[in-house]
Amino acid sequence: MSNPLYDELFGIHAGKATPFLHLTDGGVITHADFLAMAAQQAHVMTQAGLKPGDRVAVQVNKSPSAIALYAACAQAGLVFLPLNTAYTADELSYFIENSGASLIVCDPINEATISEIASTLGAAVETMDSDGMGTLRDQARAMPASFPTVDRGGDDLAAFLYTSGTTGRSKGAMLTQNNLLSNAKVLTKEWRFTSDDVLLHALPVFHTHGLFVATNIALLSGCRVIFIPAFNQDVVIDRLPEATAMMGVPTFYTRLLGDARFTRELTAGMRLFVSGSAPLLAETHVQFEDRTGHCILERYGMTETNMNTSNPYDGDRRAGTVGHPLPGTEVKITSPDTGETLPDGEVGQIEVRGPNVFKGYWKMPEKTAEELREDGFFITGDLGKIDDDGYVHIVGRNKDLIISGGYNIYPKEIELVLDDQPGVLESAVIGVPHPDFGETVVGVIIAEPGATPDTDAMMEAVKTSLARFKHPRKLILMDALPRNTMGKVQKNLLRDAHKDMFT
Ligand code: ATP
Ligand code: MG
Repeated sequence: MSNPLYDELFGIHAGKATPFLHLTDGGVITHADFLAMAAQQAHVMTQAGLKPGDRVAVQVNKSPSAIALYAACAQAGLVFLPLNTAYTADELSYFIENSGASLIVCDPINEATISEIASTLGAAVETMDSDGMGTLRDQARAMPASFPTVDRGGDDLAAFLYTSGTTGRSKGAMLTQNNLLSNAKVLTKEWRFTSDDVLLHALPVFHTHGLFVATNIALLSGCRVIFIPAFNQDVVIDRLPEATAMMGVPTFYTRLLGDARFTRELTAGMRLFVSGSAPLLAETHVQFEDRTGHCILERYGMTETNMNTSNPYDGDRRAGTVGHPLPGTEVKITSPDTGETLPDGEVGQIEVRGPNVFKGYWKMPEKTAEELREDGFFITGDLGKIDDDGYVHIVGRNKDLIISGGYNIYPKEIELVLDDQPGVLESAVIGVPHPDFGETVVGVIIAEPGATPDTDAMMEAVKTSLARFKHPRKLILMDALPRNTMGKVQKNLLRDAHKDMFT
């Protein structure tokens, strides 16, 4: 009898009174407490008739009970399906219907709406609030604190995670036990996590970054976790001196850099800051090192694959790159037209293969066949290149590529020039429809606080550094770029807003 994911991440902690989660109210949840919570939840779900392979959709605020539910699903052989807390009722009905979830666990304030959706689909509903209270806990309380682990194989589905929907409608990625476990093992080793670590965890747990990367590493290494329900600068600054490692999206780091309390002394006990989910500006990387003496380690991954590449733990962590392929994962750059592998240094589509790569998109066989090649390579939808030293550089997403008058234009190349101009905090370059060129280039500029960048001077600067066909036809000043909860720039919204500019 075995269940690799449960046994290796959770089961190894059975009976241990070692601290696992340090809460913001000073409370501590031990590994044994956590496993008991999960076992009780597993009983509730199986007694309600859920069978191995059934999906459990979970849209709740981050809490220890919410991640215990991940453990409960693993132990009972159920497929864990976390959903972004920002989703509205309409979006939820798509996810619930599409996934065919048998049970939906939601916040009590959404119970009425979710019950309506669930009743038409024949799904059950339980509630869980930010403190873990609700109908699930009410029943779990009376259940035994241990649960007979259901037999599962490494190839069985463990989780179902919808992509962030940055480039279109979210797709349900089917992740196996081995996908999750293999990646957790590689990352734990690459990033040198041990039971002596204290991980500051302020990421959401409905996304691969906070759920799988952070939580699985903590469980596998047996380290302690400072469990912060949502990124809050005061709380993070208050707790950082106790931590040894932190994982974040780039916006976490830019916000910390904007705070005078964030100093070298504050971070003296830290050994690792990891960034991912969206590109880290090279400037942030440099500022961070100047301020703290720490070099942020940037890595690259996605819902479908967990993590693919990472800058080295020992060795040169290069700003603007996402490092080397992780051990066991292959990365190649191919021509979008022919699918042939391109020589190092050339920009093309990034493809990855390895034990981390998902099984396919749920109920989307055509999409799966388009993106997952028969030989196991997954076409990520990102464009990039590999330099002479083997570092992977991401230049943007395939869907953000601008084709103007037949020329391919990579927004990143123009963004790097714009970002360098005086008074510019950041920029986003998009393609908008144009009657003559098909598409043309537009730059959206965000000023540094208090600055008023001179757009005419910026146009001049662009002209000296870039070929004519890449010059933005227009530069627009905005207060902030639209971003989703993971800090990803939503270029589709910018394109929509400016689609009639030249037509
Ligand atoms: P969708 O696939 O639905 O459009 P999404 O791709 O944003 O949404 P995720 O799986 O959450 O959904 O995000 C993965 C993407 O995030 C990657 O394909 C890549 O574009 C981006 N990404 C992740 N890490 C980095 C990084 N370090 N630098 C640049 N981009 C990154
Ligand atoms: Mg994607």
